[in-house]
Amino acid sequence: MDDARRRTPTHSNRSPELPHNNKFILPHIKTTSYMESFLPSTTKLWNDVIKRSPTLSSFKKHLNDFFSKTPNELYHFGARRCNKIHCQLRRNYSSDLYKDLFDHYLSDSPACRNCNCKTEDSYHYIFICPAYTTIREVLFENIFNLHIN
Ligand SMILES: [Zn+2]
Repeated sequence: MDDARRRTPTHSNRSPELPHNNKFILPHIKTTSYMESFLPSTTKLWNDVIKRSPTLSSFKKHLNDFFSKTPNELYHFGARRCNKIHCQLRRNYSSDLYKDLFDHYLSDSPACRNCNCKTEDSYHYIFICPAYTTIREVLFENIFNLHIN
């Protein structure tokens, strides 16, 4: 190979373009809870990254940005069992509250068994239900005493 040819690159310095046929087809989704489940949500996330990444280098940057995010430390603080319950209540999904059980066909009614309110969801459980008033007052007083700004 002569010197002139060796100095001339055979390809450009631009990052190669990504083919846009790397998208996955989402299955037909009827419910929000299914849309938020693992497979559809990760498929949608993948397709979004592909859509926003015209080149290989931008694709790598999006992946690095995604995986370098620091998770919220509150999601890992304390006992695993408490974190699991916290997550279930926060997402209004798959908790033992009757609204969630009703949504998953595991209960005949979403009503609260303590006060007969028509829906026992996490908001009702934490802020409304009179069955937990005493516990709620202790909880709120302890939170208030933490002096969190
Ligand atoms: Zn209640």
